Amino acid sequence: MSSTSNHPAVRLQQISNHIATKKDTGMNKSADRILVEDDNLDHEYLPILGSNEFRFASAKLILGANSKAIAEGRVGAAQCISGTGAVYTGAHFLSKHYPIKGAACYISKPTWANHRAIFEGVGIPVLEYPYWDAATKGLDLKGMLSCMQSAPNGSIFLLHPCAHNPTGVDPTPEQWRQIADVMEAKGHFTFFDCAYQGFASGSLTKDAFSVRYFVDRGFELFVAQSFSKNFGLYSERAGNLTIVAKTPAVKNRIESQIAKAQRAVISNPPAYGSRIVSVVLNNEKLYSEWETNLASMANRIIDMRKALYDELVRLGTPGKWNHIVDQIGMFSFTGLTTPQVKVLKEKYHVYLTDNGRISMAGLNSQNVKYFAQAVDYVVRNH
Ligand code: PLP
Repeated sequence: MSSTSNHPAVRLQQISNHIATKKDTGMNKSADRILVEDDNLDHEYLPILGSNEFRFASAKLILGANSKAIAEGRVGAAQCISGTGAVYTGAHFLSKHYPIKGAACYISKPTWANHRAIFEGVGIPVLEYPYWDAATKGLDLKGMLSCMQSAPNGSIFLLHPCAHNPTGVDPTPEQWRQIADVMEAKGHFTFFDCAYQGFASGSLTKDAFSVRYFVDRGFELFVAQSFSKNFGLYSERAGNLTIVAKTPAVKNRIESQIAKAQRAVISNPPAYGSRIVSVVLNNEKLYSEWETNLASMANRIIDMRKALYDELVRLGTPGKWNHIVDQIGMFSFTGLTTPQVKVLKEKYHVYLTDNGRISMAGLNSQNVKYFAQAVDYVVRNH
């Protein structure tokens, strides 16, 4: 297809209008086609901080289109090697430039295993804050807040804004308010790791509540964003580090230090995944299709939680199971013990992590009964 304008936004819109006349094969495929048909697309290097279209669309996605911080010019962004790279890039920056030398990074207990590896890898000491309450199978808010209170002023706290991995337990808006109060009073630095925006509740806005709330309160913070899950772009390594600073001048200084570090590690980020994300985020039709896809994925998971819960109740499986429906996102911390998990694997060929975490996405209407029966067996006998 030949294009009539060289401005990327105009070009992509023209191509997307053309593609819209073709068979509907889904949002990612449509974005793929737009890219394939763009004769002006090349394989030149991206800028060191990545594609401008991608990084600013990513920042807008997490902070909201009407973000005051964006309007005030104090939001920066760096395209990174997916969510992992965004956490690494932020951690590496803090290891070099955080004003409180020796400050520790507190991670939730438990958390995604790479958090410890990344922060320790850049030389930042890692400590844990209580998160999972085994007794209630919910959030240990008291433990979390008291750890924040007793941590030295100006510590770094790694927080999951939604769909906490591995527990699936998220603070409520009111609990986020209490967390923000302590974070503010103690001058702690907030580092959000957002790997599941849209995947928890099905709403991109709801899942961004904590981040937007902190930004509205005036926090300076980092948000690592991954597009692996919500775009199904695992292997394309599309991620972003959104930087919210107090002033545009501080934002510029942070970006320039990150660019310097990024140059030495990856030189510049990969283009393809970020192009898919940019096409979708900057195209009204594809964006709304994406929102619909996210809602249907999230709702399917919510339905599976309900089906599993109903089945366990129907079987009279000993114990309380309301946490299955109270938790949110892809993962559920079932409360099953390591010996019970072993039996599930060996006797039932049901595979989950040894800490009892299941991926809800693995359940469907065909296998949920089988899974519930297996859980019922191990709970009664092991
Ligand atoms: N952060 C959390 C909390 C995750 O659960 C994951 C992936 O599982 C990531 C970051 C990293 O994702 P990516 O594959 O985009 O590097």
